Amino acid sequence: MAPTTARDRGAAALAELGPWQRALRAQFPIITDNPRLVYLDSAATAQKPQAVLAAVQHQLTTAHANAGRGSYPWANASTDLVAGVRERIKSFLGDPAPERSAVHFTGGTTEGLRLVARDWLPEVLADGDEIVVPFADHEANLAPWLEAQRLLARQGVRIGVRELPYQTSSGDYDPAALARLAGPRTRFVAATHVHHVYGGNMNVHLIRRAVGPDVPICLDAAQSVGHLPVSVAELDVDFLAFSGHKALALPGSGAVWARQARGPELVPGGWRGSPNTTGIASLAAALDWLEAAGTDRIARWTVALAARLSDGLRRLDAYEVLGCQRSLAADAPVQQRCGIVTFRHRGIGASDLGFILFSHGFMVRTDGHCQAGAGERTSSVRVSLHVYNTPEEIDRLLAVLTSLA
Ligand code: PMP
Repeated sequence: MAPTTARDRGAAALAELGPWQRALRAQFPIITDNPRLVYLDSAATAQKPQAVLAAVQHQLTTAHANAGRGSYPWANASTDLVAGVRERIKSFLGDPAPERSAVHFTGGTTEGLRLVARDWLPEVLADGDEIVVPFADHEANLAPWLEAQRLLARQGVRIGVRELPYQTSSGDYDPAALARLAGPRTRFVAATHVHHVYGGNMNVHLIRRAVGPDVPICLDAAQSVGHLPVSVAELDVDFLAFSGHKALALPGSGAVWARQARGPELVPGGWRGSPNTTGIASLAAALDWLEAAGTDRIARWTVALAARLSDGLRRLDAYEVLGCQRSLAADAPVQQRCGIVTFRHRGIGASDLGFILFSHGFMVRTDGHCQAGAGERTSSVRVSLHVYNTPEEIDRLLAVLTSLA
């Protein structure tokens, strides 16, 4: 019989994908070398498969030199590597017009969003214009826009900053409210693809219709690239920033993709220095690995694991799961949790709970999760998953959490 409830569907997905997942998990040395530890902090940074480690070793031991500077073979190979990975990123993101877009390498999402805020946004804003930005997402997707507002104010250019409306304080965005709020002076919208605390897919594809064809949209894809299929064509955004280290590549790698269609080109200002060639090589290997594994299957796997955890927590009165409450129903119609579940124990503080969980081998995040001002103000425990996590790990975690309930 076909599964009917969300719970049954999750169990069916985990059973169907089990052999596929076991083969992939075996490719993460840090996971297989530490069987007693359970890594549940992939939203902070992800572990690396052997293929990425091998690509790093290869780049450093075969043709390693600086890029864009010399003209001997290793330098040329490095220059070609950087140019090739730009195109690789475009294809990975489903870029429909790669000849018209640009990719700038960054150290991560924060730097990518700041690049847009510093080197592009001021060019398109005039006195009295408005921008719409998220107040309860990651600080990295609020601070740069407020900084741009401050810098422009010093030049006598006053910009209105409006809050991108949410359905509830912790649900996805509200496109109807956004349509009402957007007006002729709206010049820019910043949004987040997957919320880093609540795990909800924020329905970014609905923003374009709400704001019309001319308003540039900038997407923080820190929690979606590497976790689910991401298509800039389907989302109809103009900028997309992501972190390589959350997408199985090395720390210090990342990129911002720019469509270059609405407004001027994004041209990073100032001297940018040497590119992180090794990080860029690792990014190419990570994207190849993710594509071969199948980001659709990674999404099904991590959504099913998150559902298993939130379903277990929902049955324990001692815990409060944060985020869109309607997504906790047994047959949730809204906002699947994309591999992230954040919760509180009603009697045990989050850092104590984190300490107890680590005594059982579980590595979780316990604090305010860098959430911007309008978000939750108190500390909580975040469990964030990737393809190497298993249903057995979730069941072991639930057993410990149950013993504390
Ligand atoms: N945005 C979101 C949604 C994030 O989760 C994070 C990292 N936690 C960032 C931005 C910042 O990423 P990075 O530290 O790699 O710049």
